[in-house]
Amino acid sequence: MKRVILPGETIGVLGSGQLGRMMAIAARRMGYRVHTLSPGEETPTGQVADLEIAADYEDLDAIRAFAKGVQVVTFEFENVSTEAAAAAAEIVPVRPSGAALHITQQRSREKAFLADRGFPTTPCATVRTLDELAVALGWIGVPAIVKTAAFGYDGKGQHQLTSIEDGERVWSLIGHQDVVVERVVDFTHELSVIGARGLAGDFAHFGAIENTHRQHILDLSVAPARVSDQTAADAVGITREIMNELDYVGVLCVEFFLTPDRQLLVNEIAPRPHNSGHLTFDACVTSQFEQQVRAVCGLPLGSTRLLKPAAMVNLLGDLWVNGEPDWCAALAFPEVKLHLYGKEEPRPGRKMGHLTALADTAEEAIERAIGARDLLA
Ligand code: AMP
Repeated sequence: MKRVILPGETIGVLGSGQLGRMMAIAARRMGYRVHTLSPGEETPTGQVADLEIAADYEDLDAIRAFAKGVQVVTFEFENVSTEAAAAAAEIVPVRPSGAALHITQQRSREKAFLADRGFPTTPCATVRTLDELAVALGWIGVPAIVKTAAFGYDGKGQHQLTSIEDGERVWSLIGHQDVVVERVVDFTHELSVIGARGLAGDFAHFGAIENTHRQHILDLSVAPARVSDQTAADAVGITREIMNELDYVGVLCVEFFLTPDRQLLVNEIAPRPHNSGHLTFDACVTSQFEQQVRAVCGLPLGSTRLLKPAAMVNLLGDLWVNGEPDWCAALAFPEVKLHLYGKEEPRPGRKMGHLTALADTAEEAIERAIGARDLLA
């Protein structure tokens, strides 16, 4: 039987951003110790962890030394190499596994994994040359989006094409690496499902969450999603199947497009807690971060019940353009919760924090969250 990692023991987190920070907060509340490793210092996770190690993810000796100080290793972002995951796994359990990470950290591998198993995805192709791009555009059609196969997030490395001739311009911007080209999907909604899977294959989920992006970056998340019960159940079913196929342990997010003819298409899988699940911190009995701790430590999963409809808005660095935002004004809404990630430099597009608003209806929650954010600047 696999050993349960109990409160008082230590969880190692590779990565040090806001996801690790919120996971560390949940873990420490439960009495766990948390160590984090990343190339940075004074990081969002490091500020709340028991120990912060600054080392490169490619430094396998540092990864092994880190693993010796913890009882389990998990990730807060997917761009950790499989070699690093394997080095940690020589010493302690790594959850989710390096194999799950390997598939989901690279778009073309992820798309192939989904297509091979018959999951519905956007029509797409992986291309390596300008000629291959032209051929792919011929059958995929335009408008299309070209995305770097590896290390993309928040729309980084993505370019839209409106004509086949445009291919040359876009290729010069991101060429010389594998790229995925996919058709621009006409969608009515973007949805995500955050699932958790325990050591014994037990499963919990937070239902369908509705998301709005601005310039490819998540702007607003709402729970419950305003879609039919059937659509929400189908999205949860697909998420569960994906997690089973990956033999996954931990929290994972599947992002979907819902088309006008009510078809669900998988856009992306994130092998970790996700920005669209931040609202679970305030709105659910168990947050996605506590659920990650429970799953990777082998504890029973907690209730994901939504206490009240909720909306979350991201706070990007752009809000700081005229100085420190007016926190008191936003917090004058008593059901609005402020989360800041401890980042020093508010660069445009950088996720600095978020607001969550609870209300009796999803519409009211949205109005409250956006209203509070409007008062910040
Ligand atoms: P991604 O990094 O692939 O999750 O893309 C970020 C956001 O860009 C998505 O959530 C969508 O809002 C938009 N986007 C990405 N790919 C497509 C697509 N094929 N069709 C329409 N919108 C897209």
